[in-house]
Amino acid sequence: MALIPKSHPRLNSLLIREKLVKGFDNNLVAKEGLLAHGRGEAFDYLLGEKTSKSAKEAIKAAAFMLKNAQNSVISVNGNFAALCPKEIIQLANYTNSKIEVNLFYSTEKRKKAITKILKKSGAKEILGLNEKSSIKLSGIDSARRIVDKNGIFSADVVLVPLEDGDRTIALKKSKKKIITFDLNPLSRTAQTADITIVDNVTRAMKLLVVESKKKTQKNSKYNNNKNLKVSILEIKKNLERQAKNA
Ligand code: ATP
Ligand code: MG
Repeated sequence: MALIPKSHPRLNSLLIREKLVKGFDNNLVAKEGLLAHGRGEAFDYLLGEKTSKSAKEAIKAAAFMLKNAQNSVISVNGNFAALCPKEIIQLANYTNSKIEVNLFYSTEKRKKAITKILKKSGAKEILGLNEKSSIKLSGIDSARRIVDKNGIFSADVVLVPLEDGDRTIALKKSKKKIITFDLNPLSRTAQTADITIVDNVTRAMKLLVVESKKKTQKNSKYNNNKNLKVSILEIKKNLERQAKNA
């Protein structure tokens, strides 16, 4: 691990980056995953690297939706597994959700590495590994559309963090409710999901676990478009503040 002084002003962000790099070295993260993380870092910078009030509202709405789902599934990719393996298991337990490994850049090696870290963190059942129960989603090109029959395919609510827009749109067309973590409020995934948590997944997953652990969740009048607008304005305000001080 690179030497990062504890007093570094962006210590957390650098520690998260180290986790991704380690995940890449351990075959969890794809090269493209590192690039996606870089995009996320840029937006995190613009958002002030903290959880906003609007993200907290989205987290509350997400906990309510997951707890009230018939068949909720947490979709796991390399970045998500590298950044928050323990929280994935905790969230699945508190919300009674299934866990499915679903990769944009799928290789057997990466699937194995992700399964290993999830099992080490306490996962019992992991979907998306058995070819016999795989099925194709319509509305998306071949390699990217394979999902598990008993998982995402039959789910009513799917949590897809750090997801590509094409896949989110395909899931939405299959009439699923979509929750995502995405630091870019302008991405297609952010704009397509029913609930977009515009925050770093490492911060927001911890809060979502805490919220889901509570006995009851409030059914707020959540509006994703309004919430996204607030995030975009947050970036604008931060930029204006910086410009004033420049
Ligand atoms: P889209 O396909 O939705 O238009 P994109 O092609 O720019 O977006 P993808 O690589 O498909 O990006 O999706 C990854 C998304 O995850 C990006 O929007 C990126 O900002 C976001 N992201 C990356 N790292 C994190 C993180 N740690 N926490 C939250 N979001 C993140
Ligand atoms: Mg994309």
